[in-house]
Amino acid sequence: MNIKILGGASEVGSYAVLIEDDDIKLLVDNGLTPSKPPKYPKKPPAVDLAFLSHAHIDHSGMIPWLSMEYGNDVIATEPTITVGSMLLEDTVKVSSSEGYPVPYEKRDVKAMKRHFQVATYGDVIDVGGLEVELHSAGHIPGSTMFAIQGSKKVMVTADINTVDTHLVKKAEPEKCDVLVMESTYAGRNHPPRDETEKQFIEKIGEVIDRGGLAIVPSFAVGRSQEILMILMDAGFEVWLDGMGRAVAREFLPLKKYLGSASDLRRAMDQTNMVRHRDQRKEALKGQVIVTTSGMLDGGPVHEYLKALKNDENSAVLLTGFQVEETNGRSLLENGTIKLYGVETTIDCEVGFFDFSAHADHDELVKFAKACDPEKVILTHGDDREKLLEDLKDFDVILPIEGDDIPLD
Ligand SMILES: [Zn+2]
Repeated sequence: MNIKILGGASEVGSYAVLIEDDDIKLLVDNGLTPSKPPKYPKKPPAVDLAFLSHAHIDHSGMIPWLSMEYGNDVIATEPTITVGSMLLEDTVKVSSSEGYPVPYEKRDVKAMKRHFQVATYGDVIDVGGLEVELHSAGHIPGSTMFAIQGSKKVMVTADINTVDTHLVKKAEPEKCDVLVMESTYAGRNHPPRDETEKQFIEKIGEVIDRGGLAIVPSFAVGRSQEILMILMDAGFEVWLDGMGRAVAREFLPLKKYLGSASDLRRAMDQTNMVRHRDQRKEALKGQVIVTTSGMLDGGPVHEYLKALKNDENSAVLLTGFQVEETNGRSLLENGTIKLYGVETTIDCEVGFFDFSAHADHDELVKFAKACDPEKVILTHGDDREKLLEDLKDFDVILPIEGDDIPLD
């Protein structure tokens, strides 16, 4: 067997992993990084079958191209297929409006849907003698790790979370010979989750008490729903704006992929929905607005910030890692963002709460040890070497994009 990380080896984003065994070829993910311009993995060959780990664009962004170019079929879970298709259609729209169009169109995303084959956790798919089993990755609903049994058993985690969140249950380790593991949080640990949740709710209470409003920028897929579940029963008037509502509606009937479908239902029932633009005025009279985009680079959050930018009583509470060169990072570092093309000072209080859906350093080490492989191939991280010391009992490889990694 041979593995090649085509993208997202030494960086977070544009993930694609090619696995070859004799003349059989499999691809796990084919993503893109939605930067300006977007970044792509190396071009994959036509494969016997492709697998998609989850809906996020850095894993799925080039799947439409794969089915368009080669007519390749793609295995994924139901939430990945429905929510992934929504995100891809949005990517076509946003990327062309920003002047950096992706190399496919909306009709190609529609055509791609015919190439999806639904599978679920526990299913084993035979591809010319290679057996691929699906396992939950605990990252967002429907997210999947793939265990590929050939001459070696290779497990590709893609994005994983090894602790339970409100939205989705944690990933369980799986014995394997070769572990291809993400390493987004190498060298960093999350503060205890329940503490962070408590501080988040206390901060919102503080903002409301002084007459302000809390804006909570969150990704539409995963984070928005998780935040609503954290805020459930806290007694705030919460509004949701952006694609998060449509995504939640897709997740709700897919109970087995959720930590608790009834809690998500209850959290949604307690939330006021912004269904059209006019309702944003109403939302601004509320207490909490959960909205996209998570890094302030577009979406309805701009309209809210325009209204509240001079209000020192209000707060912008970021809920995840802010990538360099994003508005979110600029807000944290300089207190300014680019709003409708103009560098604008935001007078609101700025807060950061780590609600990551990725395993942290210690959790990655624990997970790798429990999988007990001969080889660990670290991917999807820009600080991978920070894991070397803690994984010194294993043969650890830090490949560069395009390197051949022979397994036999
Ligand atoms: Zn992800």
